[in-house]
Amino acid sequence: MTTISNNDTLFARAQKTTPGGVNSPVRAFRSVGGTPRFITRADGPYFWDADDKRYIDYIGSWGPAIVGHAHPQVVKAVQEAATRGLSFGAPTEGEVLMAEEICRLVPSIEQVRLVSSGTEATMSALRLARGATGRDKIVKFEGCYHGHADSLLVKAGSGLLTFGNPTSAGVPEDFVKHTLVLDYNNVQQLEDAFANMGGEIACVIVEPVAGNMNLIKASPEFLQAMRRLCTAHGAILIFDEVMCGFRVALGGAQQVYGIVPDLTALGKVIGGGLPVAAFGGSAKLMSHMAPLGAVYQAGTLSGNPVAVAAGMTTLKLIQEDGFYERLGASARRLADGLTAAAKEAGVVFCADAIGGMFGLYFSATPPNNYAEMMAGDRERFNVFFHHMLDEGVYFAPAAYEAGFVSAQHDDAVIDATIEAARRVFKKLA
Ligand code: PLP
Repeated sequence: MTTISNNDTLFARAQKTTPGGVNSPVRAFRSVGGTPRFITRADGPYFWDADDKRYIDYIGSWGPAIVGHAHPQVVKAVQEAATRGLSFGAPTEGEVLMAEEICRLVPSIEQVRLVSSGTEATMSALRLARGATGRDKIVKFEGCYHGHADSLLVKAGSGLLTFGNPTSAGVPEDFVKHTLVLDYNNVQQLEDAFANMGGEIACVIVEPVAGNMNLIKASPEFLQAMRRLCTAHGAILIFDEVMCGFRVALGGAQQVYGIVPDLTALGKVIGGGLPVAAFGGSAKLMSHMAPLGAVYQAGTLSGNPVAVAAGMTTLKLIQEDGFYERLGASARRLADGLTAAAKEAGVVFCADAIGGMFGLYFSATPPNNYAEMMAGDRERFNVFFHHMLDEGVYFAPAAYEAGFVSAQHDDAVIDATIEAARRVFKKLA
């Protein structure tokens, strides 16, 4: 006799009133198949589903939960802020403190504007780059995700120097004809693009550590070439650090690579689980923003006081002594342990990590770009994913997403994951 789980019941109900039953597509398990888990509560490195099954959570809300779920100090700050009022539509001291903190922690940012989602941050940074340069064309890289603004939902066209094709219905060709899509980690293509149309390019936008085509690290030469070419041609370099900011290091990927972008988009960690994102750069560049300048951008809930309280507390916690050393050691222990377990079982697999982010690859070596990522054995990942879920380990439900550890993923949690994987890899062998 099959029992109907609460997850199944909720999913059936959800599909009646919400497209696909979810409020963000990847949650629907479309690429791995099966029923998404409906989460009822979370604590530290764990969450529980509607059938009260506990999972070690390696999504961490897709990045924000860096200090672990329901951290007592974050919860307290949110509760206290909420008692003072939820939203005012007028400036608050919290926003001043948060802007000061971001500017202190990310030296390339002299001025910052708070928004409510990563999509808003990148969309606004793009508008600012176009407004400041008076140019329309933008360069992005295949496999990098920057949120769902129209001109960024674009995949590569039929050849280099042809503009892209929309990846979503509803995005007019006219919107994407200004977006040039190049291969990640390909210096030659960048050089060619600038040689051909450098004077027309408003900006290059990049995930300096890509987390939306599994985990792919940029080569230093790739980012250096980008910086050099943008400077030489008067284009703006935008680092989309919505995912890797405060995740790969306290100062983000720009600190790891020692490269200073013109604009940075932030999100996820800076909201600590509530909706805060931001974009910022030099005071000169940011002076183009309304109300000072002619580039318009606004938001009813921008700098929301409750969200800022969660974000500021998280930013305080990640500055505790040794935080990133411990976080990085956990992700590395996981990546190395999983790689060893697969090797023991004779499964073609490897894993990599940077700071608190990791990638799982069903290929012999980590990919360097979108095409290499797509060549990995995604069917195998799907089988692995479901076995791990049965074991109580929740990895991202798609082979093309990075994973995240929190400060609460201690050695015991990581080792339990590796033990579970050892059993699963034997089944895959
Ligand atoms: N940029 C990057 C690198 C992201 O990973 C994401 C979301 O995953 C976004 C932008 C969009 O952020 P949001 O989902 O908050 O709109």
